[in-house]
Amino acid sequence: MRDIDLYTQILGLRSPWKVADVQLLRDTEEVRVHVVPEPGVTWTCPHCGRPSPGYDSRRREWRHLDTCQYKTVLAADVPRVQCSEHGVVTVAVPWAEPGSGFTALFESLIIDWLKEASTQAVAQQFRLSWNAIDGVMQRAVKRGLARREAQSPQYLSVDETAFAKRHEYVTVVTDQQCGVVLHVADDRKAESLSAYFESLSDEQKAAIKAVAMDMWPAYISATETHIPQAHEKIAFDKFHVAKYLGDMVDKVRRQEHRLLLAAGLDALKGTKYDWLTNPDNMTREQQNRFRALRDSSLKTARAWAIKEFAMSLWHYSSRTWAGKGWARWLAWAVRSRLEPVKKTAATIKKHLWGIINAVVLKVHNGHAESINSRIQRIKSRARGYRNRERFRNAIYFHLGGLDLYPCRVSNG
Ligand SMILES: [Zn+2]
Repeated sequence: MRDIDLYTQILGLRSPWKVADVQLLRDTEEVRVHVVPEPGVTWTCPHCGRPSPGYDSRRREWRHLDTCQYKTVLAADVPRVQCSEHGVVTVAVPWAEPGSGFTALFESLIIDWLKEASTQAVAQQFRLSWNAIDGVMQRAVKRGLARREAQSPQYLSVDETAFAKRHEYVTVVTDQQCGVVLHVADDRKAESLSAYFESLSDEQKAAIKAVAMDMWPAYISATETHIPQAHEKIAFDKFHVAKYLGDMVDKVRRQEHRLLLAAGLDALKGTKYDWLTNPDNMTREQQNRFRALRDSSLKTARAWAIKEFAMSLWHYSSRTWAGKGWARWLAWAVRSRLEPVKKTAATIKKHLWGIINAVVLKVHNGHAESINSRIQRIKSRARGYRNRERFRNAIYFHLGGLDLYPCRVSNG
């Protein structure tokens, strides 16, 4: 097989495009493939598809998959047409997306690599600049987000995650059902979340059945502003409520431990994590040790029992029964004579409507923790993304569940 036929086939070229010439440049270790159109082609406008008269042509080059160790470049004089509506425009070529200096296959290969390695490492691997690789990543995300626009998620989660230093956050909106990141915004203000809702159509907003979140006023108000019947859809899920209850137990433990130590007793020494670990995840030995602690008359044991009772109140299907269960919990917590417990009870009472929503809507936020830790991994891999835009882009790239690959457009 001649090299021209070989390259026509491996590039998957179809009429009107064909390989005219293949050059092997030994000194620069390069293969240059010259592609030309057949004569007499009627070109169409890439925007409207209208057949349009030729105007001129421009020399373009695209990096392609290497031929063995040889860097391979596709070169073509690409026609420009004069569309009656869109003016002078470059026609689409079937091997690359508009504006890219890479063929679709090469760009796809870079995307595959970026899934596994840092931008820096991929740039070295392909002998390309950091900016060129970053450009592929940005285009991939843009493409993926555009393809996803029409989708209509029903169960959302919104959460904050640390961006750089402490107290610097980004807001992350996730699709609860498939665990993919839908939106990343600076800060954790009402506007951070509103920007996502504003990107949705009225139909998409109406299709939302639940928004799981922490009891955070900014997220509550953004959801109330944009989502119809928000008061029935905002859900303070078990994952977030458990954090408040865990902090509550820990506060009681710290206070009690201090008092006991002052009296020369160390019953609570080294027990911090015993109280915070789910007993189902303990070894038998840990369980035995912990049983003695939780059956004791310690205040911490009482706070722990109050927490565990709250953790058992997530199975109801009926609003009425859920309300009764939580009312019993509140009554107990308020009578506990433990300040941190009473304080947490007040927070829960104020937000009970949203907790009941989470219970009856069966909202569970199981993805939240893993998405959070995956975001932190992305951040550490890139040595802490000093630029928020890049950090956001990397989150979409790795966790957005996006269709990132360029498609091979056709023209003829
Ligand atoms: Zn046109």
